[in-house]
Amino acid sequence: MDKCSFCGRTKDEVELLIAGMDGHICDRCIEQAYAIVEEEFKGKGEFDISGIKLSKPKEMKEFLDQYVIGQDHAKKILSVAVYNHYKRLAQKIDQDETEIEKSNIILVGPTGTGKTLLARTIAKMLHVPFTMVDATVLTEAGYVGEDIESLLTRLLQAADYNVEAAEKGIVFIDEIDKIARKGDNPSITRDVSGEGVQQGLLKLLEGSIVNVPPQGGRKHPEQRMIPVNTKNILFICGGAFDGIERKIAQRLNTKVVGFNAIEGTATINRDNLMQYITPMDLKSFGMIPEIIGRLPVITYLDPLDKDALRRILTEPKNAIVKQYVKLFELDGIALNFNDSALEYIVNIAVEFKLGARGLRSICETIMVDAMFEMPSNGKKKFTIDEKYAREKIESSGMQLLKAG
Ligand code: ADP
Repeated sequence: MDKCSFCGRTKDEVELLIAGMDGHICDRCIEQAYAIVEEEFKGKGEFDISGIKLSKPKEMKEFLDQYVIGQDHAKKILSVAVYNHYKRLAQKIDQDETEIEKSNIILVGPTGTGKTLLARTIAKMLHVPFTMVDATVLTEAGYVGEDIESLLTRLLQAADYNVEAAEKGIVFIDEIDKIARKGDNPSITRDVSGEGVQQGLLKLLEGSIVNVPPQGGRKHPEQRMIPVNTKNILFICGGAFDGIERKIAQRLNTKVVGFNAIEGTATINRDNLMQYITPMDLKSFGMIPEIIGRLPVITYLDPLDKDALRRILTEPKNAIVKQYVKLFELDGIALNFNDSALEYIVNIAVEFKLGARGLRSICETIMVDAMFEMPSNGKKKFTIDEKYAREKIESSGMQLLKAG
């Protein structure tokens, strides 16, 4: 009589016996084998957290260097913080051992200087779920806007609903400065946009179990909530903190009695006050002390000068210019931007105050005609020089400004 080649049960001892080339398998053994396969592959999906390949801080910075131009200070601080964060996760919690506390990060610097790019690149490097949210859309529950939990919904979605992966992901909260309290005094009246949201965020930053609506929003009241523990989620906050230099200057002034007043003390570089930023300045700006306490790693980004903008055009791994060259290459056309064209693009970005974000729309305006015509006209070489670039920008008129 036929029997299972794995457990030896005969056909009448089992529900089902499937025949193979030279053997059989019963339903019980299929189930067992399936469970083994499941177990084996668990967590080996897109986000294999147990297997985060943690580079050393120096290697992390080198990785960031491939995508982000300049910002050396921020890269260094971030690399160390992220390294410590994931080392902390790997730590086996032992009752008597020192437990390393989580260090969320705050990046302060003008808009468009690479804050989001840095956070995104770190997530890419670690291969952990990543999401970003604008603090200005968050409101306390019951107000118009998105509930604070919605950022965890997004993280869950980014993790393909793998809760374990989401719980070790990275959340970037942009424009955190926009939820600063107006004025330094705690307000008596409820401050919908500011303090309430800060209080709500605090819960997440501290680490707590939050019930998250998997579909987000309040549109699906019937959905089953998914509990997500935020203890090990790394929060990176970013903000321009416009005008914070004044607070820094005030603080430095009172301390030093005028800049560089005392000989022999470290000289203060007045052109870049941001580098002296401390938690105290964030407090003067209107962040509540509890939030500041939960963002212990603080670093700043430099404004991008012409040199940096030019490097952004050509150097990063996925630099805009490299992308156009690749696009043309696919049509068998050797595309080249000469130096004067690159300089012109950077000048336009500066002139129209478009910053790094504007570089793409400027290039797009310059390139659209070539992208339209070149694939059909049979030429194998094409060089963009300043004259060509200027012609395209000038004939586009106001279009460019709108695009920026
Ligand atoms: P923000 O500081 O406002 O978060 P982003 O990181 O979103 O700025 O930057 C906007 C865009 O500008 C990025 O997608 C990137 O293309 C470019 N960019 C900004 N700063 C840099 C930088 N330091 N290196 C390379 N690209 C940058």
